[in-house]
Amino acid sequence: MKVTDHIKEAKDTVVSFEILPPLKGKTIESIYNHLDPLMEFDPAFINVTYHRSEQVFKKKADGTFEKVEVRKRPGTVGICAAIMNHYKIDAVPHLICGGFNLQETENALIDLAFLGIDNVLVLRGDAAKNETLFEPEKNGHAYALDLLKQTVNLNNGIYLEEDIRDGYKTKFCIGVAGYPEKHFEAPNMESDLRYLKLKVDAGADYVTTQMFFDNKKYFEFVKKCREAGIEIPIIPGLKPITSKKQLSVLPRTFHVDIPTELSNEILKCKTDADVEIVGTEWLLAQSNELKKAGVPVLHYYTLGKPHVIANVVKELV
Ligand code: FAD
Repeated sequence: MKVTDHIKEAKDTVVSFEILPPLKGKTIESIYNHLDPLMEFDPAFINVTYHRSEQVFKKKADGTFEKVEVRKRPGTVGICAAIMNHYKIDAVPHLICGGFNLQETENALIDLAFLGIDNVLVLRGDAAKNETLFEPEKNGHAYALDLLKQTVNLNNGIYLEEDIRDGYKTKFCIGVAGYPEKHFEAPNMESDLRYLKLKVDAGADYVTTQMFFDNKKYFEFVKKCREAGIEIPIIPGLKPITSKKQLSVLPRTFHVDIPTELSNEILKCKTDADVEIVGTEWLLAQSNELKKAGVPVLHYYTLGKPHVIANVVKELV
């Protein structure tokens, strides 16, 4: 079922979760162990992130080094299929531009369609570790907008090669990313919103936001989106802070602010267990305010902390 249909059919705010594929060497059981404690909350859907290859230097037998491409977290598509089969819950795979040419993108989308997956979150992806700025694959997409257009084309039965046009159309519900605190490469919010509006005009069905810790940022973002003519659902992305280290890691990695009130409380904590308590309370307060404001979905980035998310969701009012 499509994310937008879940939203349309829901009588109240629903919850959804986002997970990362495990590091190579783990089994699907690690995914089930992660998700099992969250199933009692009846998530509408579960997102699975996509991670492109990283270039690393590997030592050869002769002692010299060679540059090789390594994917540390493969498995997005397989995990989505397993989730749908095991829990009978809709999975939302993330699909990125980085590392895919047009043909590979088409093949990936066809794989998803074969598996009966109705949803996809289309993203550009971040620059690889060795790149200063994002570099598209040769004959690949430079922006999420272009990947979105290719997905919409398949929904309309338009494939790369004419000879496979047999009238078959995919039926993806397409999500895109939005940034309440602006995408870090955008010169200003207006510019970022202009490109978001292009994604909407090209056929995006809903937006999922980057994490934020101050609800005002989300409410202002939604207001600006509506003023810019963006009418589709805007799903807030939420994450708990669970360690002191994250006070600097999260702003550096995700380009988000942490409110002074929250950072002050975290700095007073003696241990990360104390930070987790503060982070849980903050996330619960954020979630309840968003729910009261009538957001369609509370989308939680679980990031290895399902028990924290469970502690929040079970206390939602
Ligand atoms: P785009 O929409 O392409 O925007 C990128 C930048 O270019 C923005 O600054 C935008 O303003 C600008 N821009 C957009 N279109 C154009 C255009 N046509 N011309 C000029 N400028 C333009 N990353 C992963 O690698 N894997 C994941 O699974 C993943 N999941 C995510 C989930 C969510 C909910 C979010 C919010 C982010 C996720 N990311 C993920 C990170 C995301 O890939 C990065 O933030 C990336 O840098 C931008 O992706 P985007 O889809 O927003 O890009």
